[in-house]
Amino acid sequence: MEWVRGDTIGCGSFGTVNLVVPRNGFPNHPLMAVKSCETIRSVSLKNEREVLEYLGFCPQIIRCFGDDYTVENGHKFYNLFLEYANKGSLADHVKKNGGNLMESDVRRYVRSVLKGLRFVHAKGFVHCDIKLQNILLFCNGDVKIADFGLAKRNGEEEQRGMEIRGTPLNIAPESANGSDYDSPVDIWALGCAMVEMFTGKPAWNFKPGTNVAALLIQIGASDELPGIPQDLSQEGKDFLGKCFVKDPKKRWTAEMLLDHPFMADDEEKMAMNPIQQEEEESTSPSCYFEKISESPRCHFDFPDWVSTQSTASSQSIFQENSKIRPSFSSHIPSLSDPNPIHRLACDEAPNWSVSDSWITVR
Ligand code: ATP
Repeated sequence: MEWVRGDTIGCGSFGTVNLVVPRNGFPNHPLMAVKSCETIRSVSLKNEREVLEYLGFCPQIIRCFGDDYTVENGHKFYNLFLEYANKGSLADHVKKNGGNLMESDVRRYVRSVLKGLRFVHAKGFVHCDIKLQNILLFCNGDVKIADFGLAKRNGEEEQRGMEIRGTPLNIAPESANGSDYDSPVDIWALGCAMVEMFTGKPAWNFKPGTNVAALLIQIGASDELPGIPQDLSQEGKDFLGKCFVKDPKKRWTAEMLLDHPFMADDEEKMAMNPIQQEEEESTSPSCYFEKISESPRCHFDFPDWVSTQSTASSQSIFQENSKIRPSFSSHIPSLSDPNPIHRLACDEAPNWSVSDSWITVR
């Protein structure tokens, strides 16, 4: 496919995200985003591609459609083509709503992320960077997990002396203490993200500019836990309590949490307690999703190309307000890793040949 770089839709520490505009107009091609960075800094982006390739299809994970290289202004870029989430990140959505998402929406988003995490963990991987910026929203209200640049194999030894992975605000105690990054860290981080969906504020009550070392000591060494929103239902509070268990061995897994009463879908809840459900709906702030179609599952499900406004991505308070982010630029897996992902053969790996016929246009 011949393509040109469209509007910028986001920026992260490892790349810039743009819309993909097909040069000759391919109506049946999916709407795609392209995440790009200079080839010399592309280890994280290539890790993302390898992990997504290994994981294969999951409805709750942003799909990858291949990669290529371009030369722009004399610099060589690595480009990763991804399913385009037309409503941006949950961070943007929460910001727009002033942080007051309805509990039923929070429940639905958390359920989707948990399904995605159950899939990732069952395949033996850890995402390592669950946060609102990495949960992407579609116009039918679906959400999907994105940004696998820091993902790693569960149980894989962390290299000594490496910097932390992901945002310090969502870091689990075992990671703050000893660079331990196994699947329970994603559950802790999801708990932090859930608090932020509900309140619009990070789970830890720290002011921008707070010393990050102090934050890590507090998370890792003290008995303190992230704040649980008072307005949340009892079930929601209990659910968060299962995410915020300090001992990772006792923390609930994605599988267990999906069976928690807080995750019962709205129809089940209505059957259980119709009055409480009605009260919740009537007192919560409104939240509106355009209903168009099901989230696309394959190329042919996508609508025709549409023009799109660019939206700046929102950043966490640490990204916005401090200069510490670079020093926390997260650990990048070594290419000389003894268990490289690309050596893992898997029947379910997607067909990457879709990218073979693409022609780089600059
Ligand atoms: P970081 O490591 O800082 O989290 P990154 O460099 O890995 O970031 P991303 O987080 O993947 O880059 O992307 C930055 C932003 O771009 C996201 O927060 C989101 O707003 C937007 N974005 C990324 N991928 C997509 C996509 N597939 N569809 C729509 N928007 C996207």
